[in-house]
Amino acid sequence: MRVNHTSNLGFPRMGQHRQLKFALEKYWRGQAGESELLTTASNLRKEHWQLQVEAGISVPPSNDFSLYDHVLDMAATLGAVPQRFGSANGPVTLSTYFAMARGSQQAPALEMTKWFDTNYHYVVPEFESGMNLALRSIKPVDEYLEARALGIQTRPVILGPVSFVLLGKPTAESILRKSVLQAILPLYTDLLGQLRTAGAEWVQIDEPCLCLDLDDESRSFYRDAFATLKGPPGLPKFMLTTYFATIGDNLDLALGLQADGLHLDLVRAPQQIDALIAKKPTLSQISLGLVDGRNVWRTDLIIALSKIENAVKAWGKDRIIVAPSCSLLHSPVDLDLETEFDPEIRGWMAFAKQKLQEISTLAKGIDGRQEISKALATSDAFTAWRKQSPRIHKADVEKRILAVTEAMASRKNPYPHRREKQTGALALPKLPTTTIGSFPQTAEVRKMRAAFRAGKIDQQAYDRFIEEETARCIRFQEEVGLDVLVHGEFERNDMVEYFGEQLEGFVFSENGWVQSYGSRCVKPPIIYGDVSRPHAMTVRWSKFAQSVTRQFVKGMLTGPVTILQWSFVRDDQPRSQTCKQIALALRDEVADLEAAGIKIIQIDEPAIREGLPLRRADRPEYLKWSVNAFRLASSGAKDETQIHTHMCYSEFNAMLESIVAMDADVISMECSRSRMELLDAFHRVRYPNEIGPGVYDIHSPRVPGKKEIEDLLEKALEVLSPEQLWVNPDCGLKTRGWPEVRAALSNMVDTAKKLRGILFTADAP
Ligand code: GLN
Ligand code: ZN
Repeated sequence: MRVNHTSNLGFPRMGQHRQLKFALEKYWRGQAGESELLTTASNLRKEHWQLQVEAGISVPPSNDFSLYDHVLDMAATLGAVPQRFGSANGPVTLSTYFAMARGSQQAPALEMTKWFDTNYHYVVPEFESGMNLALRSIKPVDEYLEARALGIQTRPVILGPVSFVLLGKPTAESILRKSVLQAILPLYTDLLGQLRTAGAEWVQIDEPCLCLDLDDESRSFYRDAFATLKGPPGLPKFMLTTYFATIGDNLDLALGLQADGLHLDLVRAPQQIDALIAKKPTLSQISLGLVDGRNVWRTDLIIALSKIENAVKAWGKDRIIVAPSCSLLHSPVDLDLETEFDPEIRGWMAFAKQKLQEISTLAKGIDGRQEISKALATSDAFTAWRKQSPRIHKADVEKRILAVTEAMASRKNPYPHRREKQTGALALPKLPTTTIGSFPQTAEVRKMRAAFRAGKIDQQAYDRFIEEETARCIRFQEEVGLDVLVHGEFERNDMVEYFGEQLEGFVFSENGWVQSYGSRCVKPPIIYGDVSRPHAMTVRWSKFAQSVTRQFVKGMLTGPVTILQWSFVRDDQPRSQTCKQIALALRDEVADLEAAGIKIIQIDEPAIREGLPLRRADRPEYLKWSVNAFRLASSGAKDETQIHTHMCYSEFNAMLESIVAMDADVISMECSRSRMELLDAFHRVRYPNEIGPGVYDIHSPRVPGKKEIEDLLEKALEVLSPEQLWVNPDCGLKTRGWPEVRAALSNMVDTAKKLRGILFTADAP
């Protein structure tokens, strides 16, 4: 039989029209039964397997599908169901499964966190004592058999035992990950055995943690786990699968695990193939992740093929598998659905389905370049075109980039000097109160935006509506007694899209959805070319808001790193370069806001943390250019202009020095959910400027009590001086309702006033 050189590591689950999302939400609302949901799910699996086979992937993956999340699936399979869900044994029902994901009346949900450096969130397994770990579902086997019944041979995907254990979290110190691992290994053996019996020849074992800096204990987990798994006869062959970074110093460890195959992400870390070649591995399959699973661009087939040819030289044809760099979960489904793209730009792109066609083409190329000469010529033409297309390359942008000086990334004077100027210009009270930017985006606001987009109301009517909302929001803030106001962001659908739509170099897809968590999908903007700002983007609304109040209204911008991080970014130049272009566009916006009389400007960077590379060695470089981009965007401001920034999604410990280096005059940070844990880090690194650790969680409709806010502020004052403390919520209020916002902010303002009285009675201004 001819060797099959193609593979895929995972396909998007939602369906090209987000069918799974709608089916899930209907089920959750109680408007559809279990069988309707499960039918939609199995139809999607069938459609996706067939689509993959048609695209040339003869053995597509199975068990990559999930109703919510693949880590949660594994937890359910292994019986890692916390006691509060009241399901100690037997099959895990759908209602228990969703209760774990989303919480129920009786039991709060499991935590959710970002899947490595992606914008996908996984459900964090909890390991508690007395957990009845046992095979409580055989979803991988069921789905394997489901495909077989359709006549399709698949390679099941399972999350490997060590990554599962490392990604989950023990709920008490007495519970050791090591013991959890020991307990689940027999379950894995059982499951793998059942897969082999069902007919699976190979299994893809995902061990993305092999791309992290591992400590000795984790390394020993790998050795112990695979020694156990490779023991018994009658198991399928293992394709040990890594992605998102280099396997680096874990290569020897990985090879020592005696898997039959190894997959490497050669998009993120191309050089690791040389390290593998040098090791002369005895693997029977080597899977080359050459097609970018994290982006929307066409693969340069010539470059990819030359990498394949190198590998063939080292290992011969038969052992080579061509694959995407990682699961295609992170790509939109099908470029063919996009009818609005400019044909030139569209020609540079590939979504999941097109990526599979590239894989199949490349696999044919293993037999020689002549087999795919036409595809190579086409790919070459696109690459050449992209290199010099005037759509992408703008001389004026390049000229500006070249003219950037170091001085441009520094404010004119250091913070203490600016502080004096700002105190004079703004005369704010101590412990100033403010919010993060957005106010409730009610159904009415969304309805009007939709009507405007659909052409049902004209620009004038829409603008009038936004003005009314903004003015009302300003009144509201005055009534509540806030010190520094915001305009409310009613004109914005999304904090990145709003800017992307007004900048050059961006396009937007119609159907380019990717899963963020559960049924939630996002449609990231696509940055295809040099970024520039043809006109001011926010001045109209900031100016309007400022015109209806005597208090200061903050200008509100999304920062360069966040715009980059939440978009699909062009891959024909370093990300740092694209980020710098965005920074320059924002720098101009800052200047325009200042010229329009805005005295305080906030530049949000909620995504700066998630861009942090997985490998420690790669971090300093990222931190350098990302901090620099923020500084470039903000540093044109006059000393008197107060620059704010905002960050959420916590875990900033790894980059506190860099946050200080951003040199914003004021930073607001999410803090309340972790009970100000973050502030502990400020024992280590003193925060020199002003800071507002969020005093209440905006993710819940719960109204925080005054005592609670006061306690959090007291806690903050253990590491911060009263002179530098601001009082604000954790994040924007977009998802909340007006009545709770009024109650919560009133409590916040009252508390700030009370504390102000206590702390500053003697020398109050
Ligand atoms: N200014 C934005 C808002 O308030 C910030 C959102 C965010 O941090 N994610 O909505
Ligand atoms: Zn936030």
